Amino acid sequence: MRISAKLRIAILLDYLAAISWLDQAARSRECIMTESFEYLVIGNGLIGSAAAKYLAKSGASVAIVGTNEPKEYRTHRAPYSSHHDAGRIASVLAQIPEQARIIEASIKRFDRIEKESLIDFYNPVGCITTTDTTKYGRGLHHIFATVAGLLGTRVNKLTAHEGRELFPLLSFASAKDLLLEHNPAGCINPLKLIAAQSALANRAGAMIYTDTVTALEGDRRCGFSISTKFGKKLQCKKILLSMGSYTNIAGLVKARTAIRVRGETVLLAEVHGGTAESLRSMPCLVDETPGSPLSEFVYLCPPVLYPDGKWYIKVGAKSKNPRILSSEEEIRSWFIYSGSLAMARELKYYLERALPSLPLVSWKAKPCMLTDTPDRLPLIQELSSGIYVATGGNGYGAMASDELGRMAVSLMLNGSTGQVRSNARPGTDVA
Ligand SMILES: Cc1cc2nc3c(=O)[nH]c(=O)nc-3n(C[C@H](O)[C@H](O)[C@H](O)COP(=O)(O)OP(=O)(O)OC[C@H]3O[C@@H](n4cnc5c(N)ncnc54)[C@H](O)[C@@H]3O)c2cc1C
Repeated sequence: MRISAKLRIAILLDYLAAISWLDQAARSRECIMTESFEYLVIGNGLIGSAAAKYLAKSGASVAIVGTNEPKEYRTHRAPYSSHHDAGRIASVLAQIPEQARIIEASIKRFDRIEKESLIDFYNPVGCITTTDTTKYGRGLHHIFATVAGLLGTRVNKLTAHEGRELFPLLSFASAKDLLLEHNPAGCINPLKLIAAQSALANRAGAMIYTDTVTALEGDRRCGFSISTKFGKKLQCKKILLSMGSYTNIAGLVKARTAIRVRGETVLLAEVHGGTAESLRSMPCLVDETPGSPLSEFVYLCPPVLYPDGKWYIKVGAKSKNPRILSSEEEIRSWFIYSGSLAMARELKYYLERALPSLPLVSWKAKPCMLTDTPDRLPLIQELSSGIYVATGGNGYGAMASDELGRMAVSLMLNGSTGQVRSNARPGTDVA
């Protein structure tokens, strides 16, 4: 059968119309699948979850995308994090007043966050910092002055003898001076703090996605779009990168930040429930002169119930020569091979001296990583138009996280971090 030229043209036009219709349908389907928000937060850690809460509470539409806790480090196929643990110290004793100010603002709000979320994540048992006047000289006076200015009389200077009388299970070397910092200093459960912040963010309207962001495209004028490992696409006008140690490594943006990722190892020392109960009022401890070959300072958290149903005392340190992690592969192998066994052994030896009568059930090493900045101040800035970054916990990011999230959001909404001023009165000494 011969088809006339007219009919051929008509069929061709129908065909083109059909293609165009299909194309339009595909586009509109894509539009439905691509959700749009005013703000996107990438990274659901301690800082990101606080930021998502503040953004949602401001009335803006916001989504947060982040990963779950690894079930098993070896088989984990998403970014690791700095918060997968149950013990973090909150203590305002800091050498740099700017840090102390941020921490103070943050921990003052913990009580309210607990009440609003109905999630308990904080145990204000206080914190003892042991130091050595002969080592620090004027530096020690500076710490006293800053802390006294921030906290009034809630810090006491004790002799080792007074410390032993107050906390008979703890042993303090006699050459050391002790600073006892009272409530609100204490111990944070970081996983529960994230749960509390996420619950509040969600209640205020934030969408929460469990996924890994693999690409970021677009610009401030036309808007940004992100793609995730599981095929989601989200659009937004402004983005906050709160990806902790992955800020540079993930390669989502060209701009690089001056952060350094430090691998550390902690000791989890298991104790029986009865032992944990007898140590219930034990404060956290930060020992500035631990007398250990590998550590600058050592810290320990009183027994905490971990997600595996066991009680552990967590002991950690700042290494004198930490492992620097510069790529995703280096981070992965640090987590897979459980950090440094030598450090874990040193921490166990330290624990045996600090709590000599403690019956231990078992112990294990646990790897972790921290994100440091050159000046030890957090990094909160607009990296490029519409893309913001909040990272650089420097080992105090858990206690400071609520304020760091708030500062990042203030920068995104108002162009300034609106940093709080403390009532520090330099030159005051402690009681
Ligand atoms: C052993 C150890 C002890 C510490 N002790 C204390 C302490 O006593 N007191 C204290 O205040 N602080 C402490 N810290 C520091 C504190 O835990 C960190 O500062 C804090 O976790 C940093 O928060 P963050 O939100 O920047 O990063 P994180 O908590 O690491 O959160 C970043 C999140 O982003 C996710 N992410 C990364 N890339 C992507 C991506 N592409 N897509 C989606 N999600 C992504 C990560 O998986 C992670 O969940 C300690 C840290 C360690 C490791």
